Amino acid sequence: MRPSLFSYSLIDLRDYFVSQGLAKFAADQVYNWIYRKYNFDFESWPNVSAKVKAHIKNEMDITLPKIVWKGLSEDGTRKFLVQMSDKQTVESVVIPAKNNRLTLCLSTQVGCAIGCTFCHTGTMGLKRHLGAGEIVGQFMAIGSWLLQEEGPETRLTNIVYMGQGEPLHNFDNVKNATIIFMEDHGLCLGQRKITLSTSGLVPQIERLSDFPPINVAISLHASRDDMRTELMPINKVYDLKRLFSAIQKIPLKAHRHITYEYLLIKDLNDGQEDIEGLSRLLPRKVSKVNIIPFNEYPGSKFKRPSDERIIWFQKSLLAKGLITTIRATKGQDILAACGQLKSELETPNLWN
Ligand code: SAH
Ligand code: SF4
Repeated sequence: MRPSLFSYSLIDLRDYFVSQGLAKFAADQVYNWIYRKYNFDFESWPNVSAKVKAHIKNEMDITLPKIVWKGLSEDGTRKFLVQMSDKQTVESVVIPAKNNRLTLCLSTQVGCAIGCTFCHTGTMGLKRHLGAGEIVGQFMAIGSWLLQEEGPETRLTNIVYMGQGEPLHNFDNVKNATIIFMEDHGLCLGQRKITLSTSGLVPQIERLSDFPPINVAISLHASRDDMRTELMPINKVYDLKRLFSAIQKIPLKAHRHITYEYLLIKDLNDGQEDIEGLSRLLPRKVSKVNIIPFNEYPGSKFKRPSDERIIWFQKSLLAKGLITTIRATKGQDILAACGQLKSELETPNLWN
């Protein structure tokens, strides 16, 4: 298989070009065309030499994943089904927010091996990892679709690794993709604009010092081992004690937090004892809790608590001195909300 052009950081592309007898600066030109101008038609690049163009044509792969389905929610959330060259598909979601923020929720694997009992993706099992070029390719395919269909103002501003898959299970590819997203001469996304969410793979959390310094969110969902194991089988291997000792090693810059995602499920983890448990577990200075009300999907066995209960839970944590937010549910009508992503073409197309 030819290497994907989208899998190279700028430094790696310079080295690669040099190793192929091409000019080093051609890497900077190529980066400018693809990541600044969203132009993938290399024959149309006037400042790039014929030799470099021939190399890209014959030795590299510059095709983007294909958008094969899209859905538009009433609240402006767009969901895309993106097909890779081997026909495997993943879902990616674009979520609008205040101040022209447009967040792309990216998938990092086809399916997921972790098997959380509440998660639609988890029911698929793991089909395969995505390569760095496929992760960046999702961004570029959707980014260029938005530019063409919705105009030059529509730029993706943030990334969350919260689509299908466990990003730290695919550590090296997600790391490379992140380096590419952050490249100053390319997309230039800042470290605060990228968030990685993990179910708690302890050995990889311990390697986060080796990762660009992005935001980290830990899917906690329970403050007791027995309940967390029921929801997330990974807790059998990496229990709360091991998880929190690994979290302590994450390098945090001044004023930065670890976000703890807490999936709120009716009559399961939404009681006073859960508030007490979280309050005991989380260090005040460096923790933020983000409550995710459970998003129901066809066949899900868990239920979402009432709005009153969700607000009570937040207020109770705030009263304990924990910074706590509630994640707005977006894209519910097209099954695009957190944890609902499963690559199937059976969802009705609500685009028009
Ligand atoms: N695998 C990573 C990232 C993808 S899942 C992780 O688990 O952290 C992103 C978030 O969605 C996680 O916090 C996950 O627990 C949550 N999630 C999964 N299923 C959900 C559902 N049905 N409703 C709400 N959130 C869900
Ligand atoms: Fe995988 Fe995250 Fe879903 Fe768990 S919640 S099965 S880790 S995608």
